[in-house]
Amino acid sequence: MAKMVITCACTGAETTKAQNPALPVTPEEIAEAAYEAWRAGAAILHLHVRDENGKPTQSPAVFKKAIDLIRAKCDIIVEITTGGAVGDTAEERLRPIMELEPEMASLDCGTVNFGNDYIVNTLPVMRKFAEEFKRHRVQPTLECFDLGHVYASQMLINEGLLEPPYHYGLVLNVPGAVPYSADNLEVFKRALPAGAHFTVMGIGRASLPAQYGAIATDGWIRVGFEDNVYYSKGVLAKSNAELVERAVRIAREAQFEIASSDDVRKMFNLKG
Ligand code: ZN
Repeated sequence: MAKMVITCACTGAETTKAQNPALPVTPEEIAEAAYEAWRAGAAILHLHVRDENGKPTQSPAVFKKAIDLIRAKCDIIVEITTGGAVGDTAEERLRPIMELEPEMASLDCGTVNFGNDYIVNTLPVMRKFAEEFKRHRVQPTLECFDLGHVYASQMLINEGLLEPPYHYGLVLNVPGAVPYSADNLEVFKRALPAGAHFTVMGIGRASLPAQYGAIATDGWIRVGFEDNVYYSKGVLAKSNAELVERAVRIAREAQFEIASSDDVRKMFNLKG
């Protein structure tokens, strides 16, 4: 049976406790959410952290605190964000990679609208990120919010800055960017390099359709409060684990085996 890799993005940079009081914010809450998500079947934790005021931070010390607490509970793969929050500089976004050398991290592949804000990633910035990922042996998740981002990643591949196996994160339904639809997902998939793995991230109400889209296209699933705080229309999710549990159920119904963290370590030859 094919293996389904599930990522949980438990906190994000923009989600607030006002949107869902169950949002994990402190390192302790994040570690507990990571542990519950891992027990439910998530192989990868996509990690953002917050400062003592609940604001997003790229402080390596706060990341380290959260990761140490997670490590005390389980062996889930930690994928640190280098997207950070809107307005962070490239240097701030890279610091946790250089100081903590996680197994995986996200690498944004271009500039895009992000609601009323925007995310800026020029090609020179992306090259610098790719070089640092390589130097520190961090497996990138190549986040693409737009079709042009897939082609930009191909430029980095052609320049020798990225090496297989590739893992893409297709981020669909960000307001101002590409909406989720089966057609749009298919177009992104066709543009990927041969043999690339990809995780589908449907934002907001696209989260559940995107999970079925991932199943239909041999992609992988991401769920969690970064992307969506609801379980169903008007009903808040009780926890990140509740969202992972449903992803596991629907993947199993479609005859996928759920990948463990060690399965993913083998696929990408991660440091462990
Ligand atoms: Zn993120």
